[in-house]
Amino acid sequence: MRREDILKLLFETPYAELCARADAVRRREKGRHVFVRALIEFSNHCERNCRYCGLRAANTAPRRYHLAEKDILEAAEYAANLGADTIVLQSGEVHDNPQRLARIVDALRFRLPTTALALSVGEHPASSYALWKEAGASRFLLKHETADPALYTSLHPGRSLQQRVEALHALRKLGYEVGSGFMVGLPGQKPESLADDILLARSLRVDMCGAGPFIPQADTPLGHEASGSARLSLRVMATLRIALPWANLPATTALATLNPVQGQREGLLAGGNVLMPGFTPQAYRQEYRLYDNKRHIGMEEVRQVIESAGYTHSLPQKEEYAGHA
Ligand code: SF4
Repeated sequence: MRREDILKLLFETPYAELCARADAVRRREKGRHVFVRALIEFSNHCERNCRYCGLRAANTAPRRYHLAEKDILEAAEYAANLGADTIVLQSGEVHDNPQRLARIVDALRFRLPTTALALSVGEHPASSYALWKEAGASRFLLKHETADPALYTSLHPGRSLQQRVEALHALRKLGYEVGSGFMVGLPGQKPESLADDILLARSLRVDMCGAGPFIPQADTPLGHEASGSARLSLRVMATLRIALPWANLPATTALATLNPVQGQREGLLAGGNVLMPGFTPQAYRQEYRLYDNKRHIGMEEVRQVIESAGYTHSLPQKEEYAGHA
């Protein structure tokens, strides 16, 4: 697929036609099923200073936490019992104790042997990725954020896009299913570089790719910037579905944050086939401030979104878990 073909889809094809094409590809490649992946934000500590992120080390506003192992296991079991097919453990990037995460992964593997386990914990040495793989993690999410090398370095002080891509290659080499992704509407992002984001994800053959709108977080250097466009994010999703027909595409929580009623439903209709409800214990959710006003999406809302979009899921019958969402 050529860059100009992608640009045409992104910026010229009428929206209804774009979504119809994406939906046809999605039905052919993925059927009507929507996967449900439970997100547990187990720690908001981070050593990095990404300029858009409320968890950046320089931000003193959030109360930092690290969930106890038993709380992580309980949240994961709860999510699996409600029908989540994958547990995603997410945190900021911290390098001090890879063995600690390995122990948690190992315990989860023992408690939930049939539920896939994904990590989203940032860039680490290949030795740490190998340790967690050996412990039982099978998927890893590491967004490339932007394929523009200059913009990448300006947003991620001291880091390069090349390092990011090398980390993605290392994960693939170790046998992980790899997810990447990027933000739409980042300050300084050229519209055309979205085509490069899609081409990069395509060249990496990622198994999953999340594209959602940039949303500012007030306590960061980009706190006064405007949010990215929800409509453009949906166009990016639909183009991703056409360009990466094999990939799983989440309808992101950021879409639901910009458009609480319809955001994720529209994401599914634009080619998405994954939803990621939150299972971080209530007391900690407000402290995981990647961006402002992040919506909490529960399992009941996930069910409603999938059913209202006309797709299928394998969640238990509603009466089996009513009141838990
Ligand atoms: S984006 Fe990730 S690595 Fe960067 S500051 Fe936020 S949590 Fe840390």
